[in-house]
Amino acid sequence: MGKDNVLVLGGGIAGLTSALELAESGSQVFLIEKEAEVGGYAGKYCCKAQEDCQKCGACFVAQAIDDVNNHPNISVFCGLKINSFQSTGDGFKVNFVNDRGEKSGFDVNAVVVATGFKPFDATERQEYGYKVYDGIYTALDLDEKVREKGSFTYAFPKPVERIAFIQCVGSRSDNPQQDYCCRVGCMYAVRMASMIREELPEAAIDIYYMDLQNFGKGFMEYKNDCITDKNINFILGRPAKTYFHPISKKVILKHESPAEGEPQEHEYDLVFLSIGSQPGEDTGSIAEILNLQLTEDSFFMNEDSLNPGVTSQKGVFVAGACTGPRDIAASMQQAKSVSLSVIDYLKK
Ligand SMILES: Cc1cc2nc3c(=O)[nH]c(=O)nc-3n(C[C@H](O)[C@H](O)[C@H](O)COP(=O)(O)OP(=O)(O)OC[C@H]3O[C@@H](n4cnc5c(N)ncnc54)[C@H](O)[C@@H]3O)c2cc1C
Ligand code: SF4
Ligand code: SF4
Repeated sequence: MGKDNVLVLGGGIAGLTSALELAESGSQVFLIEKEAEVGGYAGKYCCKAQEDCQKCGACFVAQAIDDVNNHPNISVFCGLKINSFQSTGDGFKVNFVNDRGEKSGFDVNAVVVATGFKPFDATERQEYGYKVYDGIYTALDLDEKVREKGSFTYAFPKPVERIAFIQCVGSRSDNPQQDYCCRVGCMYAVRMASMIREELPEAAIDIYYMDLQNFGKGFMEYKNDCITDKNINFILGRPAKTYFHPISKKVILKHESPAEGEPQEHEYDLVFLSIGSQPGEDTGSIAEILNLQLTEDSFFMNEDSLNPGVTSQKGVFVAGACTGPRDIAASMQQAKSVSLSVIDYLKK
C-alpha cells in the first residue's frame, strides 16, 4: 500500500509540529507556507534566558525547522497561497498560486490547517498613542528588536530609568470581538520584565494590569518571584491614555487605580503594550474555500472536543493558534494531539 499524503497549511510551530508527527507516522507531508520562510510568529521571538532558561519556547521553532528540513517524508513549499479545494472521493485536490501567478496542485488524503493568528493592531487603541508618540512599542516590537540587536540595551540605547507594560491591550475588552484572554500576555510580560531587570538593575519597571491569567504552569510563582526578588511592580488598573511630554520628552501615562482613587500621571521612558491575538488574516477566506465553521470569536472551530482538530469537513483538521489563543508549548501539544486524530482518520 502507498503512503498517505497529507497537506499541512501553515508553517508556524503548530504546522511544523503536525508535519513532523505525521511524517514520523509514515505519511508523505506537503507543508505549505504563504510567506518566504517557515517559523510563524514564534520564530521572531528573542531568547529571554538569564542565568537559567526562562522557558519561553522560542528556540523550539529553530529545532522544529531543522527537523522538518531534514525529514525525508516532508516537502516544504513557501510563497504559495491556496486558491481552490475539491473533494476527489477518497481525498482532496488542493490548488495553490504563487505571487508570479504560477499554479500548483496537490492530491492528498487529509489536510491540517495551521494558519495561526494575527497580533492585535495596537493603532486601534488610539488612546495609547502607538505609532504616534516616541517611546511606545508593542511587546512584539520588543521581542523583535531584542532578537535583532542581541540585547535590550542595544535595542534601546538611550538612557532608560522608567519602563511600563500595559496588559490586555486588545484583549478582555468590552468589544465582543476582543473580549477573550490572550493567554500569553501575562507570562511574556513578566519574562520580558525579568530579562530587562538583568540589564537595568536600577530602572523602575511597572506592569499595569486589570486581570492576570490564571493558567500556565508556574505563572503565579514566577510572578511573585519577580515582585520579591526583581523589584518589578504590579499596579492594578488599566491606564486610560498616554501622551508625549514635549519638554521632558517622556511618555506620560494617565492612570486611575482602585487603590489610589484619584487619577494619577506617571512618567516613563518606554511603554510596552502587551497585545493579544486575533484570528489570522486568511481565516475567513480559508473557511470559505474549505467550507469550515468558525467560533463566535472567528477562529476555526474544533467541532468535537473529544477529537482534537476535527472539523465539520471530514478529512480536514485544524491545529494551533488558528483555533484560539495559546502559547508555543500548548500549540505544540495540541498539534501533536491533532496529528493523532489525523492518523486515526487515515487508518479508517
Ligand atoms: C506579542 C506576542 C508574544 C508572544 N510571546 C510568546 C512567548 O514568549 N512564548 C510563548 O509560548 N508564546 C508566545 N506567544 C504565542 C505564540 O506566538 C503562539 O503560541 C504561536 O505563534 C502559535 O503558533 P501557530 O503555528 O499556531 O501560529 P503562527 O505563529 O501564527 O504561524 C502560522 C503560520 O501559518 C502561515 N499562514 C497563515 N496563513 C496562511 C495561508 N493562507 N497559507 C499558508 N500559510 C499561511 C503564517 O505565515 C505562519 O507562518 C506570543 C504571542 C504574541 C501575540
Ligand atoms: S526556551 Fe526561551 S529562554 Fe529558554 S533557551 Fe529557549 S529561547 Fe532561550
Ligand atoms: S494573558 Fe494576561 S495580558 Fe493577556 S488578556 Fe489574559 S490577563 Fe490580559
